[in-house]
Amino acid sequence: MPGAAPPTDRPAPVGVDPTRASIARVYDAFLGGKDNYEIDRETFRRVKSVAPEAQDLAVENRNFLIRACRFIANQTGITQFLDCGSGLPTAENTHQVVQRVNPDIRVVYVDNDPVVLAHGRALLEENDNTHFVAADIFNPREVIENAVVRKHIDFTEPVALLQLGTLHHYNGPRERPAEIMREYVEALPSGSFVAISHFSDPEDELSALARKMEDVFLHSPMGSGTFRTQTEIEELFPGLEMVQPGVVLCADWWPDGPRIKELNSAQRTISGGIGRKP
Ligand code: SAM
Repeated sequence: MPGAAPPTDRPAPVGVDPTRASIARVYDAFLGGKDNYEIDRETFRRVKSVAPEAQDLAVENRNFLIRACRFIANQTGITQFLDCGSGLPTAENTHQVVQRVNPDIRVVYVDNDPVVLAHGRALLEENDNTHFVAADIFNPREVIENAVVRKHIDFTEPVALLQLGTLHHYNGPRERPAEIMREYVEALPSGSFVAISHFSDPEDELSALARKMEDVFLHSPMGSGTFRTQTEIEELFPGLEMVQPGVVLCADWWPDGPRIKELNSAQRTISGGIGRKP
């Protein structure tokens, strides 16, 4: 209706602070979702002011999640997925993608965001093979030793471990994410697969843009978003055999068809890959 007031944000669920930005809700804003508040959209607007196509970074990440999950479910015979940093429910969630291939696949989601805990959990725990755990994904022990994880993930059988769009939100020492992944990989049996996507520095004329986006993310209300080089992202797969084509732009990892348009700058700042534990 012309002149109508913009929609107001829904009241925050108990335990959710709408004055503090959250990674899950900022990502939801990037994906065009409705589960976000003004403080989250502020981060989105700030990033868009330096990278107008920034939403495509999130879209490519999510499309990579869908293709990576479909690949692992279809081709490896793995029947248990540990999805670290589930995010808020959206159109194609991990369990929907993989259980379409095999309804017996078990999925355990892990997240620590209050909104994901408050109402995402109910939507993600849709059936008996889908479970949700509240834990810190940057503390591998806490995740691996969690009772619900132990109940539904058998660490003597191959596991698919997902760290999609998560590790760039770690705010401590720059080398720690590689150690975190080493701890996860040590806990996995041979034949397990690990999928990672991460903000990337293209190390070409777009490096300056990646640095600018990083600066905006780090100084935004959300306060996280580190861009890594190709070598740094490869270090997140310690001792793993990379599935071809290795770590590449998410958009270039087994795309659904031929490219008819050149990638924009935002699409060139998110990379991903899948490794197999020998
Ligand atoms: N994996 C999904 C994807 O790729 O579409 C969602 C990615 S979203 C950008 C990152 C998610 O990681 C958010 O839901 C956030 O709450 C979660 N996350 C960030 N830090 C976390 C932590 N320390 N422990 C648990 N979850 C965390």
